[in-house]
Amino acid sequence: MTAPKVVVFAPGDQRSYERFEEVGCDVTLGKASWADPTGNTTEEIAAMAVDADALVGTSIKGGRIDRSVMLASEQLRIVAKYTVGVDEVDTDVATELGIIVTHAPTEANWGGVVETTMQQMLTLLKKPRQRDEAMKHGTAWRTPALTATHIGRREDGYPGLTVGIVGLGRIGGRLAQMLAPWRVRMIAYDPYQPIDRFIHANVERVDLDTLLQESDVVTLHVILTPETHHMIGERELGLMKPSAILLNTSRGPVIDEKALVAALQNETIAGAGLDVFEVEPLPMDSPLRQMDERVLLSPHVAAHNHGAGIGPGIEWGTEDVLRALRGEVPEHVFNKDVIPRWRERFEGRALI
Ligand code: NAD
Repeated sequence: MTAPKVVVFAPGDQRSYERFEEVGCDVTLGKASWADPTGNTTEEIAAMAVDADALVGTSIKGGRIDRSVMLASEQLRIVAKYTVGVDEVDTDVATELGIIVTHAPTEANWGGVVETTMQQMLTLLKKPRQRDEAMKHGTAWRTPALTATHIGRREDGYPGLTVGIVGLGRIGGRLAQMLAPWRVRMIAYDPYQPIDRFIHANVERVDLDTLLQESDVVTLHVILTPETHHMIGERELGLMKPSAILLNTSRGPVIDEKALVAALQNETIAGAGLDVFEVEPLPMDSPLRQMDERVLLSPHVAAHNHGAGIGPGIEWGTEDVLRALRGEVPEHVFNKDVIPRWRERFEGRALI
């Protein structure tokens, strides 16, 4: 029996491939890393994928796992991601071809994103950077520019802020839970969640335009699909209050970045907290890098914490691949519709 072939198209670290080598797999490594996700082109990945049994890795930005890649091997069983997002994988094609796609929504990942979203909101509204800078540089003591925003409702009649959550999935739902004691008004837009999810999260269900018009904080937690691509563009930014801020820890292309830059320059909105960008790494000449403290940037690290990051996702992804190679349905299947077809093709056919 020839050794099963595993292509690690974007190695997280050596743990990604050592386990496969230990069980006798033939391992091919792509060049994307967590630090630089650009990696190989689609054509290069397709060439690596010839006769592969499994493709696995973290996010890639320079290429896609598309039909050409999946057709490179008739025996491809699984495409496994170490991350929550599978937006660079054509999951519908995988389902059509009988290939399982797995992902890794570990709490270390999605829980980290929720905490970073809270940090973005507090940094933009409570001004710790400006207050600290004023002290360190001795430039100001109690100036009006250091006035921050009270977030929650108060007994004196101050109504508190309205937070609009776009996408009430794992991250949006946990965010609502974390915000509850802050006594803000929470509204959300998610046409794919049942009403009881909104009720249990104590969140009012609204349409997207209402959310944009009424929110003081708009925070994006959708997955990237053709429908959510540029779902926040010039029209939508124009609906937001001039005093509102926009937070994005989801995926860069959910926002039309050019329209966002214009909205910030024209002061159509008051600020933005961005962890993700249309092109990653964010080009050095991006106007976003030139903006003042109304814009808070981070290099797609929302979930990156000591002892967390993608480490647990690597564990999940590796285990999912090993199960698929043993002819067992892996645990964290994204395209669940494929399972009956996959069982017919691969169940019980162990390669390791
Ligand atoms: P999830 O699948 O649990 O939730 C996504 C929600 O978006 C779902 O409830 C879905 O119904 C909703 N949705 C889909 N299409 C929609 C639409 N057109 N309009 C409104 N809502 C829509 O995903 P999650 O785990 O909560 O992750 C949310 C996002 O965060 C994803 O884009 C993921 O890639 C991203 N993420 C980013 C990082 C980071 O490092 N910045 C880390 C983890 C996840």
